[in-house]
Amino acid sequence: MPAGWPESGRDSHVPGVTGGVVAAVEGALTMARRLWLQAACALLLAATSADSAPLAAQQSEARPEFETFTIAGRIVWLNEALSRRFGIQTVPEAREQMFALETDQGELFGIAEDIRGRALRRDERLRQLKRCELLVRRYRGSPVVQIIRMFEVDGDKRYELDYYCDICAITMFELKACDCCQGPIRLRRREVPADGKLP
Ligand SMILES: [Zn+2]
Repeated sequence: MPAGWPESGRDSHVPGVTGGVVAAVEGALTMARRLWLQAACALLLAATSADSAPLAAQQSEARPEFETFTIAGRIVWLNEALSRRFGIQTVPEAREQMFALETDQGELFGIAEDIRGRALRRDERLRQLKRCELLVRRYRGSPVVQIIRMFEVDGDKRYELDYYCDICAITMFELKACDCCQGPIRLRRREVPADGKLP
């Protein structure tokens, strides 16, 4: 729970008769600002804990069964690929609805558009990778996979891709203004060493 919660009661007391309106307006503004900050913190925590093993462990009890595996190939629009590969006459308005990964063997995996999936929509550079590797999760019964980690493959080298704010030193998973300072962030490309452990 973010620091500052215990104080929030101060904003909810009924202002006195003198200066009541001003106090109420100030209180409302303070509350709005605090709620905004708390929302920002919650988002930040959610984003930064996406790879957190303890969190995954906590949630695994409540969630349906899933498998985690790696797929590699190119990012494509699913409907374009269905049309190209199988001759399915997909309608134009559905063309850019869903992403898929097309493996080297020609298999298609639909990609759920959560924050990591939306990163593909927001950043053209991710869609243009010659070869991409995804660590994905698929729940039993789900037709699509969820991106857990994303890598660019270049020859025999692998680079983990995410977004980073150099000022706040925080990691994010899609292109946007920084969760914290609202400034620009950069696409971070870190070479994965042979032991698989990033510094
Ligand atoms: Zn920042």
